[in-house]
Amino acid sequence: MKAVKYHGPRNLEFIDIPKPQAGPGQVVVKIVFCGICGTDVHAYSLPGIFNWELVLGHEAVGYVEEVGEGVTCVKVGDRVAVGPPGDCGHCYSCNTGNPNTCIHGFPNTLGIGPDTQGAYAEYILSKFPQNELFVIPDSITFEQAVLFDVLGVGFHAVRRSDIRVGDSAVVLGCGSIGLSIIQAAKLAGATHLIAFDPLGSKRQLALEVGADYAFDPGNEEDVAKARELLWRANGAQVCFEAAGHPSAIQTCVDLCMPSGQVMLVGSDSRPYELVTSAIGHKQCDLKFSFVYTKEEIGMLFDLIGAGKLDTSPYSLLKVPLEDAISKLEELATGKLNVARVLLTPNVEG
Ligand SMILES: [Zn+2]
Ligand SMILES: [Zn+2]
Repeated sequence: MKAVKYHGPRNLEFIDIPKPQAGPGQVVVKIVFCGICGTDVHAYSLPGIFNWELVLGHEAVGYVEEVGEGVTCVKVGDRVAVGPPGDCGHCYSCNTGNPNTCIHGFPNTLGIGPDTQGAYAEYILSKFPQNELFVIPDSITFEQAVLFDVLGVGFHAVRRSDIRVGDSAVVLGCGSIGLSIIQAAKLAGATHLIAFDPLGSKRQLALEVGADYAFDPGNEEDVAKARELLWRANGAQVCFEAAGHPSAIQTCVDLCMPSGQVMLVGSDSRPYELVTSAIGHKQCDLKFSFVYTKEEIGMLFDLIGAGKLDTSPYSLLKVPLEDAISKLEELATGKLNVARVLLTPNVEG
């Protein structure tokens, strides 16, 4: 079968590998769509993300093709999502309600861990189907379900924050993750929901998914307007940083109310600068959020099915598997502006 192998930054290969077969307890899934994640783009363009070889692809959907002896969680023909978490289920993090920070999660995740075979391929082998496969409800499409990774990151950040109904929230960065934060914060009951992005097109999308205001972080008048809107508590209860840019954290701190919370969601390899004497008196909580949990994937599917989470703002571009490498290059150089490129290793059905 066809697959795309990662050897290192800007060093990928379109190859033929044997189609996997399901041993006892294992499942083979025929891939319908695999999203090209921002992590894949980073690994494609920057050193130090993956220092190992692998077949990429950790956010996919498809049909169960074959089940090994003893598998009860799925049956042949089921529509499933294949992806993270990949948590082990028995470490301290897993046993204390934080499976997304499982110490074995990263190396175990298909399409991320060393020598794993992800879903930039026609088929994928799940050795831990209970952990890696999520049955897709009939109420949602493959195109909606494949967004679990994009939606999950923002959803988890909001659930991890202290936001309460009636609070104000600021979201810095209105890319795919920022949009999912806006939607989840709205569901959580945020009243003043203020989004920031330098691009007008992204500010428009922010308004469409539920932001009350959308401003340009580089425009001082816009920042002053946001501050005015947040007069009641002298800032927002929670500021989400989803821009992945060192300057965004300062705007978050500036717009956070005293004793409020700054939630860092964006990731970036550049150092962030924090002048503690300028922020210490505000007593802000600085918190990080990382990926999402299995339970949250189920919640997302239910919310999408119920029409409470809108997937229509996420633009999709479907391309054949053999275009993966050229699309990674276009994404890395900013030539493609879509929420997700979807690889289509098999014709659906
Ligand atoms: Zn991802
Ligand atoms: Zn674990």
